[in-house]
Formats: sequence, structure tokens, C-alpha cells
Amino acid sequence: MLLLLALFLNGCVQQNETTKLQVVASIEPLSYFVKRIGGTHVDVSVMVPPGGNPHSYEPTPRQMVRLGKAALFIKVGSGVEFELDWMHRFLSLNRKLKVLNAVEGVRLLPIKSEEIHEESHHHGRNDPHYWLSPSNGIVIAKNVEHALILADPAHKNDYVKNRIQLVDELQSLNREIQRKLTAVTNRRFLVFHPAWGYYAAAFGLEQIAVEEEGKSLTPRQMQRVINKAKENHIKVVFVSPQFSRAQAETIAREISGVTRSVDPLAGDYQENLRRATTTFIESMQ
Ligand SMILES: [Zn+2]
Repeated sequence: MLLLLALFLNGCVQQNETTKLQVVASIEPLSYFVKRIGGTHVDVSVMVPPGGNPHSYEPTPRQMVRLGKAALFIKVGSGVEFELDWMHRFLSLNRKLKVLNAVEGVRLLPIKSEEIHEESHHHGRNDPHYWLSPSNGIVIAKNVEHALILADPAHKNDYVKNRIQLVDELQSLNREIQRKLTAVTNRRFLVFHPAWGYYAAAFGLEQIAVEEEGKSLTPRQMQRVINKAKENHIKVVFVSPQFSRAQAETIAREISGVTRSVDPLAGDYQENLRRATTTFIESMQ
């Protein structure tokens, strides 16, 4: 009798695990949306780990195994190199895999080239970092809700309820950031990796980007950045944990300033936008 009970319980536990919807997200911020909207019905893993660089990341064999068993893949969809290189491999590995393109319905902005890069190779390219504005977060939330309902219609009511709650929070986060930034007078900021263009556009700030997606600067480009920062009375160079700080430190030294870290890929989406806002405000006063 005990043995039977044990077997029965064991069976239940296993079934609970396997009946959760298996989801893989490209980057941490997207997994946040899956966790919040999917709640206890989903099991989500992330491709690019904390500190990994989505412009150059390659999946591990373990991740490929996990991907083979997933029901749903949430991709960034805005031209991140890692997806451009790997999506077709993922699909040939798992032909049942449904793919949600999280960018659907988002208005992408072109990469703003600075005169720093006289020969820009970014003609017509869009800035891929769209998730870093709360209003785009609302679009992502709706996309994730639809994808979860399609993949797992049995829990539709929960997905709708969780999405409504999250959208509420994102709307008040948007107002909160707006309010905090109103008093800032010098609205230009210098950032090494150009990830904060959507955030800047949403809140009336101006991002001055140092590098172009992963390339290091020539001495001449460095000098231009330094001049531009001095002209704009900028004292802080923002860096991301995913990228080398060496050139950013050099620029900071030249402008008698400092580097500060803001993370475009943190998994605690809302808290991260709050943290970044505080960091921006402190440096733009
Ligand atoms: Zn980037």
C-alpha cells in the first residue's frame, strides 16, 4: 500500500514537471515577461546568460538539448546577431517549436550614427535594444500573453489576468520614470555600448553612443568622443557589464570623469529600469 502510494506520488510529481509549458527566451529581460505572465504554468530558461553578449553569444550543447524539448521560443527579433546566426539551427533541431517574435508591433528606431564614425556601416539598420522602454515592455507583455495562450489555451484566464496586472505596473513605472527625470537639465548622456536609445527617446533624453555594436575605436574616434563629451559637459561614461571597460576608462580619464555601470540585459526588468534611472539622474545633474 505504501509502495503504491509512493509510486502514485512520484508519478504526480513527474507529471507536474512535464506538464509545465517549456519556454526558452533569448535574453533575460524577455524571460521576465514569461515568468510574470506564465506564472506557475511555465518553466522558462534563457539562452544568453547574465553577463553574456547577445551580439556574439553561442549556445551550449546543454542548451541545445533543452531547446529540443521546448514548446515555445521567445526571440528578440530586432536583428540581434545571436538569433540571426542560430534561429534556423534551433528550428531544424525541433520542428514542433513555436516561435514568438517579441518585437511584433514595436516601432523600431534607426541606429543614430554620430559624426564620431565617419564611415558608418549601419546604413538602414535598426537599433535592436527596443525592450528598454516601459511602453515597449507593454507591447512585449501582450505578445507574450498571446503566445502563451496559443501554446497552452487551458490556462488562458491566468495569462490574461497576469498580463493585465503587469501592464498596470509598467504604466505606473513609465509615469514614475517620467516624473523622476523632469528636473534633469543636462539631458545628454554618454554611453559606451549604444543600448539606451529607446529609453532616451521615450523620456526626452539624448544618448551619445561611443562604440558601434562591439567594435573598438580608433585613436581618432576616441579623440572625437572625448571632444564631444567635453563640449557637452559630460562627466560620466556609462558602460554595460557585457563589454570591455578599457576604452571607456580611457575616455573617462580624459574628461576627468568616471564610468558607471547600467545593464541593458538584467532579468529583474522593472527594478533594473529604476536602477538605471537613478544612475542616469545622478550623473546628469
Ligand atoms: Zn547591444
